[in-house]
Amino acid sequence: MKKLQYEELEEMTRDLQARVEKGITVEQDLINTQNELDAELNRFRLMQKYSSEALKAPDLASFCELTVEYFVEIFNLPRALFLELDEEAGQVVLAQFGLAEYEDQLARIFDKSIVDGNKSKIIRKGETGYEAILKLGLEEAIICPICDQEENCKGLVLAGLKKKEIVFYDSIEEKIADSFALMTQKAGDHLQILRVNERLKKGIAHATKELEEQAEELKRSNQDLEQFAYVTSHDLKAPLRNIASFVQLLNRKYQDQFDEEAREYMQFVLGGVHRLNNLIKDLLQYSRVNRLDAGLEHVDLHDVVEVVKHNLADMIKHQSAEIQIGRLPLFRANYSQMVQLMQNIVSNAIKFNRAGVAPLIRIEGGENAREIYFSVSDNGIGIDARHKEAIFSIFQRLHSADEYEGTGIGLSICKRIAERHKGKIWFESTPGEGSTFFVQIPRNLKRI
Ligand code: ADP
Repeated sequence: MKKLQYEELEEMTRDLQARVEKGITVEQDLINTQNELDAELNRFRLMQKYSSEALKAPDLASFCELTVEYFVEIFNLPRALFLELDEEAGQVVLAQFGLAEYEDQLARIFDKSIVDGNKSKIIRKGETGYEAILKLGLEEAIICPICDQEENCKGLVLAGLKKKEIVFYDSIEEKIADSFALMTQKAGDHLQILRVNERLKKGIAHATKELEEQAEELKRSNQDLEQFAYVTSHDLKAPLRNIASFVQLLNRKYQDQFDEEAREYMQFVLGGVHRLNNLIKDLLQYSRVNRLDAGLEHVDLHDVVEVVKHNLADMIKHQSAEIQIGRLPLFRANYSQMVQLMQNIVSNAIKFNRAGVAPLIRIEGGENAREIYFSVSDNGIGIDARHKEAIFSIFQRLHSADEYEGTGIGLSICKRIAERHKGKIWFESTPGEGSTFFVQIPRNLKRI
């Protein structure tokens, strides 16, 4: 009985022990599975975090660094590399972590044959075809190609372990390969977006630089032109004055001895001198708009119009022009430039009249919170809308000097003055009925 009891007890103990042991393994299995699940979840969370951060990366360099850091953290690896296969530059290491000592060899590890489509690959020591990678001293490594939408390989991500590290880090197992590939695909998508962005940015920067250079060049040539216009017109003034006075003297003194033909020639010469004189005067005015320091003062446009009427008194009388004046603004501007601007517009309004129709001109204006404006309308010949821009360019005239006298500089002076006051000038017109010229200038200018 005793023996039986002992054997039974022994049997029961063994059974119990086996059960406990089995329980422990089951529990251990459960713990392991739980740990794996936790690791997987953690990996998943990190991948999500990576996705949102990578999208915010401001440039390619910070994106690649971020990517490598995440690879190392997500897969618990001591080193990783982000290598791009650029069509022009060849292999370029965009970022690396823990591989600084192999810097020279890094850019040569890529060979198209080591990647298979867009599949990730785990390499173990001894495998042939991957010598360049294993030469980095790695016991095992994982490589994942970065492909574009057409599955063309654009680069790769590589991570690996050295032999002694396998004790501290988890060996690279097949099951992480899928997550790794998912990450690489995400990295590839972002890389493409950034590459396109970068190309766009470069294109924009290039175009901006070119535009800036052109603007600078234009500014320089404008300055040269202005200088040229100023110097020539200034230097031509004195000899022209001489010619004018001697021709007039000649005409006065010898008029009686001239025959009909000579008198006609003399009229041509005098006409030419007169035109040349106007041209030089206008050219000088044109080049002075931006040359001279122009101070700002309180300008009452009523005063300006009065001065203009006084200056154009002969013309007004000769053409029987009527000038009506409405409400006009008071604002800060350069007084003499405003007189010049108004005078050029009003003299055109009188000059370009219709045959047999006395010029009727209306000047009025107003202001809003930001700008002042005024307009000069006439009942003259009008202007075709095609010439909207052209008539404000220097020397652009729509008629010959025989039809209407002029130099083609008046409106370009107006444009310069308006622009110097940070404003603008334009017109609306109905050919055969009349035109209205508008000027708009910001209120409260601080300087020009
Ligand atoms: P100019 O008066 O010396 O010819 P402008 O630069 O002042 O030169 O004007 C350029 C051209 O614009 C003129 O030759 C004319 O054809 C047209 N123009 C300007 N103002 C008027 C207007 N009020 N009515 C019709 N045409 C105009």
